Amino acid sequence: MSNEKIPYKIYLSEEEMPKAWYNMRSDMKNKPAPLMHPGTHKALTAEELTPIFCEELVKQELDEDTAFIEIPEEIREFYKMYRPSPLVRAYCLEEKLKTPAKIYYKFEGNNTSGSHKLNSAIAQAYYAKKQGLKGVTTETGAGQWGTALSMACSYFDLDCKVYMVKVSYEQKPFRREVMRTYGASVVPSPSETTEVGKKILSEHPGTTGSLGCAISEAVEVATKNPGYRYVLGSVLNQVLLHQSVIGLETKAALDKYGIKPDMIIGCAGGGSNLGGLIAPFMGEKLRGEADYRIIAVEPASCPSFTRGTFAYDFCDTGMICPLAKMYTLGSSFIPSANHAGGLRFHGMSTTLSQLYHDGLMEATSVEQTSVFEAAEQFARVEGILPAPESSHAIRVAIDEALKCKETGEEKTIVFGLTGTGYFDLVAYEKFHDGEMTDVIPTDEDIAASVAKLPKVE
Ligand SMILES: *Cc1c(COP(=O)(O)O)cnc(C)c1O
Repeated sequence: MSNEKIPYKIYLSEEEMPKAWYNMRSDMKNKPAPLMHPGTHKALTAEELTPIFCEELVKQELDEDTAFIEIPEEIREFYKMYRPSPLVRAYCLEEKLKTPAKIYYKFEGNNTSGSHKLNSAIAQAYYAKKQGLKGVTTETGAGQWGTALSMACSYFDLDCKVYMVKVSYEQKPFRREVMRTYGASVVPSPSETTEVGKKILSEHPGTTGSLGCAISEAVEVATKNPGYRYVLGSVLNQVLLHQSVIGLETKAALDKYGIKPDMIIGCAGGGSNLGGLIAPFMGEKLRGEADYRIIAVEPASCPSFTRGTFAYDFCDTGMICPLAKMYTLGSSFIPSANHAGGLRFHGMSTTLSQLYHDGLMEATSVEQTSVFEAAEQFARVEGILPAPESSHAIRVAIDEALKCKETGEEKTIVFGLTGTGYFDLVAYEKFHDGEMTDVIPTDEDIAASVAKLPKVE
């Protein structure tokens, strides 16, 4: 097919869409370390996890052997409403950069939630429904996950309670209204509706909340109300599993034209979109069938991979969630007010952490003004207004393409364009007004929060 021009958009037919998710852990020699009980420091069992999470999702969380897990028919039908997502050849960007590199991006912003998060939200809602639950609880920071989950819950007639960090609740009223359109109840966190919320409010009156606090509230409500479970939009193995649909589609589309990427680039917050995008490629790498450069991109303000420590840590600021072995800045680390809300997590997926530790992938960090420069450059030629999170991947893809221009190499670059930025226009405004700053933590800042890591032998 070498003489055939690659189309701007490579689509798959419905028949060509993946019928099973791929579990990267099945091919890993060094498995990610198990989630640990914060009190006993023993690996958490299914019995201990089922009061918090849905049964089937607990199974997926703990399954490190099954390579392919069938995507239930109902979820595949839902996927067909907005998938397959296009794999776009960025001809216009290549032209603008005058690079010999071939750039492709997988665009996940083609649904109302505006991000890839719906891929896992619909799966988690499906298993909650199948278990006969009444509803689910969750937290949301920037709002993409809350929106995705609201959509998924309304589809399956489940009640959805979203604890939204108060500052976002007030600053992003439009996100909130989208969630309410899908029937979710959205509570600003901290709130008077939970014990932990009341405690935090009495200790810190006037606080605008944090993700860690919202998690604590959502978990409390899920465990205290019969028929409810808590769901999470990133970090967990089950979420990476569901997101593998991104990578499987990408690989199927590339295979149609015999294209082998040289590098695969994605932004990393908790690691779910990146883990999903790279899944089948990493599988080949792990089995020794192919080699790819895989690059995680994180904000310089929250550099978990590049400046964090590989250790057991709490997943939440409230220190009630299980311990996970991951690259972490410490659960008490508070990143500066970076505009990529989805990348402000102190830790990282345990699976990606192990892969990074074993030298199977790279990581780099970028500053937000350079991220917005790349976002604007991309928007002007490719016609999509990218989310600030996604623009981290754009930045590095452009940098790599410019390196190719210097060396004359025709490398093939694939990156994940996780979402759109319509709800992030305040950030774009700051950028255009020249008011955007880059606050990078000092070594002392990081050392201080890392010193507070739980002591685990
Ligand atoms: C949540 C989010 C991310 C980061 O989350 P991961 O779990 O690391 O993928 C990236 N991009 C967008 C648009 C998001 O909403």
